[in-house]
Amino acid sequence: MFDYKNLSAQDGEVMAEVKKEMERQSQEMELIASENYVSKAVLEAMATVLTNKYSEGTPGHRYYGGNQVIDEVETIAVERAKKLFGAEHVNVQPLSGSPANAAVYMAFIKPGDKVLGLRLDHGGHLSHGHPVNFSGMLYNFSQYEVDSETGKINMDKVRELALKEKPKMIVAGYSAYAREVEWQKFKDIADEVGAFTFADIAHTAGLIAAGEMANPVPLFDVVSTTTHKTLRGPRGAMIMCKEQFAKQVDRAVFPGMQGGPHDHITAAKAVAFGEALLPEFKDYAKQVILNAKTMAEEFMKLGFRIISNGTDNHLMVVDMTGKGLSGKEVEIILDKCGISVSRSTIPNDPNPPLNPSGVRFGTPAITTRGMKQEEIKKIVTWINAAIEQREEPEMLENIKKEVREMCLSFPIPSI
Ligand SMILES: *Cc1c(COP(=O)(O)O)cnc(C)c1O
Repeated sequence: MFDYKNLSAQDGEVMAEVKKEMERQSQEMELIASENYVSKAVLEAMATVLTNKYSEGTPGHRYYGGNQVIDEVETIAVERAKKLFGAEHVNVQPLSGSPANAAVYMAFIKPGDKVLGLRLDHGGHLSHGHPVNFSGMLYNFSQYEVDSETGKINMDKVRELALKEKPKMIVAGYSAYAREVEWQKFKDIADEVGAFTFADIAHTAGLIAAGEMANPVPLFDVVSTTTHKTLRGPRGAMIMCKEQFAKQVDRAVFPGMQGGPHDHITAAKAVAFGEALLPEFKDYAKQVILNAKTMAEEFMKLGFRIISNGTDNHLMVVDMTGKGLSGKEVEIILDKCGISVSRSTIPNDPNPPLNPSGVRFGTPAITTRGMKQEEIKKIVTWINAAIEQREEPEMLENIKKEVREMCLSFPIPSI
């Protein structure tokens, strides 16, 4: 891997920070559901001279000269993505998930148009219509919810809302939802009211690519995804759509939303898609889900309440109110043990968004390190012990040591 000798020699200040972050990542337990570790090959692809290039436009139609190589790189990324998801058309230029979603709305609807999306505090994403986000400011969103009993999306209620609101577009795909999404039912409802179907599979793309979860790409008009979550590529995104929408999607990305694509990231996306096409990636995705199911079961055995009582994917939201704590308090306790998690709202949360009742746990990162059920059981035991004995600093210190030891015996791939 890199020796960073030029960075060290030239800029010790930044190098010192990078070193600290490398140490943190190798010694700490990453349970944040949206994070993962890229391979050495993906990391190397990002650190290439492709970052020096301007290439506004699409392969073969650029606004700058000298793009022969970039055209080839982008074409490799597009072809691999098509194969991975069975997509008719792919644009790999979106810089991240939120800009990708902005381009999707721009391609299909007009400001002020009606859209349906899941509420943020029920597991949706900011870019699905939250009032502080461009999506909520520009478009007229109505928000559906998860059922407070089952924790699952009630498709009859979605249909009712769709019939009432007559949206131009329906958004499905979430940030904190542990269950399979009923793509076909969304499609049927959208057809009934004449709405476009938009799936945002940012979280589950890797599991879908591996064939371990249902794929909306053949069914939906347009699908966006980040490339850095379960898909395990560089920080970025892409949009997949039916051929008939290809031109309007490409035009929304550039010149609508963005200028030049980040070509070094495009190269890294191509490498990550190549990895996801290998049989080993299917094993990875299977293990991610198995680990998450094991984690949910272990939590429930210890009396934790899990929203929707289990998981079908890589994540779960755990209600901490039964333990007399907020999600933020648990986040802080676990931080003291070298375990990273993200606080999360629970459906109909009685607490405010900055201090919500839940914690979201995910298994993509620790599964990349090679951790399996046996390790998961230990991790849940530590989390429970940390919560129970939170007033005893030496207990938390002991757990931190054990966490560190386990992490060091499962090194992350890029260090
Ligand atoms: C993470 C996420 C995004 C946004 O990705 P960024 O790259 O952080 O902008 C969009 N949609 C969903 C559902 C997500 O989970």
